[in-house]
Amino acid sequence: MPIFYHPSYSALDLPENHRFPIQKYALIYDFITTELAEEFDFITPSKATLEKIASVHDANYVSQFVNGTLDSKAIRKIGFPWSPTLVERTLYSIGASIQGAETALATKIACQISGGYHHSYPSFGSGFCIFNDLVIAARHLIDTSQCEKVVILDLDVHQGDGSAVCAEKFDDIVTISIHCQQNFPAKKQHSDYDFSLDKNTNSQEYLNALQQCFISILIEQPDIILYNAGADIFRQDELGYFDVCLTGVKERDSAVINFCHQQDIPLFTVSGGGYQRDIMSLVSVHNQLYLSMTNG
Ligand SMILES: [Zn+2]
Repeated sequence: MPIFYHPSYSALDLPENHRFPIQKYALIYDFITTELAEEFDFITPSKATLEKIASVHDANYVSQFVNGTLDSKAIRKIGFPWSPTLVERTLYSIGASIQGAETALATKIACQISGGYHHSYPSFGSGFCIFNDLVIAARHLIDTSQCEKVVILDLDVHQGDGSAVCAEKFDDIVTISIHCQQNFPAKKQHSDYDFSLDKNTNSQEYLNALQQCFISILIEQPDIILYNAGADIFRQDELGYFDVCLTGVKERDSAVINFCHQQDIPLFTVSGGGYQRDIMSLVSVHNQLYLSMTNG
C-alpha cells in the first residue's frame, strides 16, 4: 500500500508546552516501519507548488505565508509560530495529499501520515491549519481531468469548516462532516452534508451516524473519497468531547475502508487531528487507521 511521509512533518521546533503534539507523525512512521513494514511502500512527497495551492487559496495569502509577511494576528489564528521550517513542512504535507490522492486513483487505496487541514479558509488559516490539503488535492484531480467528482469525508471530531467554505463554490467537490456540535469551531459552516452530534456521543451512536454518511455518498457517486481520519473522536482526547472507545475508532476506520472496497470507490486517507497529551496513547489511536488498512 502506498504511504506518503516526509521527515519535516515532525521537525518543527515549537515552544515548550505548545498544544500541538508535533512528534506524533514521526511516532506513527516508527510504528508502521516497525510493525507493518511489509504492508506499506513509503513514498517521499515533493513540495506542492504555490500555483496549485492558489487554485483554492487567495494568492496574496499564499505568498504572505510563504514569505513570512503575514501579520501577527493571522499567525496567532493559525497557532504555530512562523518559521522557514513551517513553510517546508506545509508544502511537503500539501504535496503529499496531492500526490497521494492521485496515487489512490490508480491503486484504489493510498494514505499519507500528515494532512487533514480542514480549518484552513481561502484567505486565512486557523486551528493549526494553513492550507486546505484535501480541497487542493480534489481540485488537482478534477482540474487535470483525472476524475469528475470528489467526496471529502471528514470524520475528525471538529467540523470541517474551512473545507466547507473552500469547496462551496465547487459543485464537483462534496463535503461531508461528522462532528461534535459543542466543540471548536464555535461558528459552524455549511458542509454539503453535516452530521452534528452532541457531546458524549458513544461508539454505537457514532457508527450509526456513519451509516447515514454512507447513504449520502451513495447518492453522490464520487470517483474518489478523501478521508480525514481524525483521532480526536477518541474518548480520552482532551480536545474532543465524544465517548468513542478505541474499538469504536477501529470500527469507524474499517467501515470506511470496507465501504469503499465494496463500492469500488478509490480511497485516500490522512491522519487528521488528535491532541492527547499522552502521546503514545494518541499514536495508538491514529494507528487504528493503518491497522484497519492491513486487516482489510
Ligand atoms: Zn480535530
